[in-house]
Amino acid sequence: MLAQRTALFKSSGTAAASAAAKAAADAGQEIIDLTVGEIWSDLAPTIRDGAIEAIRKGVNRYTETIGMMALREALARKLSVDTGQVWRADEVAVTCGAKQALFNAAMVLLNPGDEVIIPAPYWTTFPAQVLIAGGQPVHVETRANGYVPRVEGIGAAITDRTRAIVVNTPNNPTGAVYDSETSVGIGRLAIERDLWIIFDECYGDFIHGDDAHHPIVSIIPEVRPRTLIVNSFSKSLALTGWRIGYLAAPKGVISAVKALQSHTTSNPNVIAQHAALAYLQNSDGSYESQLRSRLAGARQTGLSALSALTRIPVPKAMGGFYFYLDVSGLLRLTFGNGEAKTVDDVVNALRTKAGVAAVSGTTFGDPAGLRLSYGVPTEILEIGLTRLVEVLNAWE
Ligand code: PLP
Repeated sequence: MLAQRTALFKSSGTAAASAAAKAAADAGQEIIDLTVGEIWSDLAPTIRDGAIEAIRKGVNRYTETIGMMALREALARKLSVDTGQVWRADEVAVTCGAKQALFNAAMVLLNPGDEVIIPAPYWTTFPAQVLIAGGQPVHVETRANGYVPRVEGIGAAITDRTRAIVVNTPNNPTGAVYDSETSVGIGRLAIERDLWIIFDECYGDFIHGDDAHHPIVSIIPEVRPRTLIVNSFSKSLALTGWRIGYLAAPKGVISAVKALQSHTTSNPNVIAQHAALAYLQNSDGSYESQLRSRLAGARQTGLSALSALTRIPVPKAMGGFYFYLDVSGLLRLTFGNGEAKTVDDVVNALRTKAGVAAVSGTTFGDPAGLRLSYGVPTEILEIGLTRLVEVLNAWE
């Protein structure tokens, strides 16, 4: 018999969607996989050189649990530039990707039964980790407001048990970018109601519209003592497999995270740490700007293919690298036997008829959404989306 805790979570739905795509491909079907939350790209030269140099030097030992001091200092300098405030190394922990930063946050902040407000649609790991830590996710709908939460909606969801609010902008899966009024409004609520803010800005480097990415601590500095900033190199440097991310928070939070991490993973991989340090010390920004312009090109190509959609709206895709489709217009139709069609039916039809793998919104708490990643080679994206449009336009 397994622990009761195992009933609280399933394997990540995005991973399951990728596995279904792979299974179809293994069975001989030609599949264009748009499920993955990562960017197809070469390695950043500074990362490669930093890692090779560390191996050449024979680096092989544990580092400080929450990362080498030189790396935490470099991250503190980056945070100072990004936020316009002074950050110090003792306010930063290096983690095995943003996922561990978020897990650490849930484990050190939540008491049993504490509620955490998570706007929906949401990245599936947020509620899973809250549950694992003994907390209770509380979702606030954003669909009627272009996937940006209304501050009143968040206010109405706060109870005596609320402990934290998750702010994920740019958002996975929706690609929404929160305007500064919304973030300030959430910040004010957090202050008034004495709540933590978990601010996940993993996609902060990928902004495609006029709305800039605003670190919440910059636009409402009073929230800094109650904010945990979560970020990683997974998306910004197309480095998902290296598992290197960080958490920036008040010193007391970082000390608790250090103690926790000392009993879980210990330090993140030392070679990845050296690589990240080399990047922070030596990057001239050209790799990142190439990555950004390639993504911007893929987004344009994708949006122009999707503009042929006749029965569902073309997504806005203001941030990150996802197209998030609202397929509710197709779900009004029923099968011959009167049974309602679901977004999972749409996803299955896309896989079998268009050879395109997408992630169902049910993974993100949305019965009418569907996520497509455009972090794939542009030629492939164009073929996939053209086939997808044909199938969705002919949906019956
Ligand atoms: N936060 C968000 C919003 C994400 O979408 C992801 C990955 O998809 C992560 C965190 C985790 O990133 P990492 O690979 O650095 O653990």
